[in-house]
Amino acid sequence: MRGKETLKGLRPYTPGRPIEEVQKEYGIEKIVKLASNENPFGYSNEVKKFLQETVTDLQLYPDGGAVALKEALAEYYQVETEQLIVGAGLDEVIQIVSRAYLTPDDEIIVPDPTFPQYAHHAIIEGAKVIKVPVDEKTGEMALEDMLKEVTENTKIIWLCNPNNPTGTYVSQEKITRFLEQVPKNVLVISDEAYQEFVTIEEESSTLAVLEQFPNLMVMKTFSKAYGIAGLRVGFGIASRDIIQILEVTRLPFNTNSLGQQAAIVALKDQDFIKETSRINREELTAWESFLEKYEMPYYVSQTNFIFFSVGDKDQEVTQYLLEQGFIIRGGLKPGWLRITIGLPEDNETLRKHLLAYLAK
Ligand SMILES: *Cc1c(COP(=O)(O)O)cnc(C)c1O
Repeated sequence: MRGKETLKGLRPYTPGRPIEEVQKEYGIEKIVKLASNENPFGYSNEVKKFLQETVTDLQLYPDGGAVALKEALAEYYQVETEQLIVGAGLDEVIQIVSRAYLTPDDEIIVPDPTFPQYAHHAIIEGAKVIKVPVDEKTGEMALEDMLKEVTENTKIIWLCNPNNPTGTYVSQEKITRFLEQVPKNVLVISDEAYQEFVTIEEESSTLAVLEQFPNLMVMKTFSKAYGIAGLRVGFGIASRDIIQILEVTRLPFNTNSLGQQAAIVALKDQDFIKETSRINREELTAWESFLEKYEMPYYVSQTNFIFFSVGDKDQEVTQYLLEQGFIIRGGLKPGWLRITIGLPEDNETLRKHLLAYLAK
């Protein structure tokens, strides 16, 4: 049985290696996974309590409409519940959008490099992917260059802000100016999976201009700062019109009961998010000082990961670190590595290993 023609050049997603596998292969007890930008502090104590004490009714189907979660999100983000769509992770929302909007006649525009799932699903739908390189020096999305690629076939422009894997952030003001120039029949999506880590501006979310631009959609997730990647909850916020279209392609019971309920509890504990972000910032600063001291080029990050160059030895470095018990992410750009900001003591050990390798 052959798959669809569009699947030909595509591969299944390869996640960061599981901890147990690395433990076995190298016979190391302590493995630190810094490859998928999870929260090293785990999740809110409130969520822990909830999971231990309160989970009930798992024999029933989940609330397909995620009503309670949407109400909590609507209140927190000051939008209507009809402006929300919830997915089994943001990954699923990306798939839903692609399925609802893209045909083989369409084009999407993405930064390069960026989160690969935007292009992946566009290709499955037969759409054409236009990749626009980020600014080589700063790593920032090149919004002007992206605008130049807009044609009458453009259906979606994907922005990732801050961008994964570069970690760089584009100001709210620049995004607004960009939106003003994009034709109204083009859907602009701002993936803000890492927005909770941004520390440079009071108002860092594109949500502030949602009313102004009916062709704008903002995406967020509980997998990164909120720390419940394993429960799979992500969501999108847009105009009612867009959400109505997306709801048609969403599976009836896409998110599970546990995830929905835990997300409500997690959303309430903003102190946990603040503390996560505060320590992350300190640790990011330590990484920046280290990379500057040893003259390794890096992009300025507003996320919980940092992207830097180790010259042409990226694969050897990745392998060496793996043998020391650290799973990190290479293969995103030749010579460059992406490291999730981990616990303070793990960051320090990792820097020592990195230095030991480079001094060889
Ligand atoms: C991790 C990530 C996602 C997917 O998150 P899930 O909610 O776990 O599916 C989406 N976009 C970006 C940019 C990410 O880094």
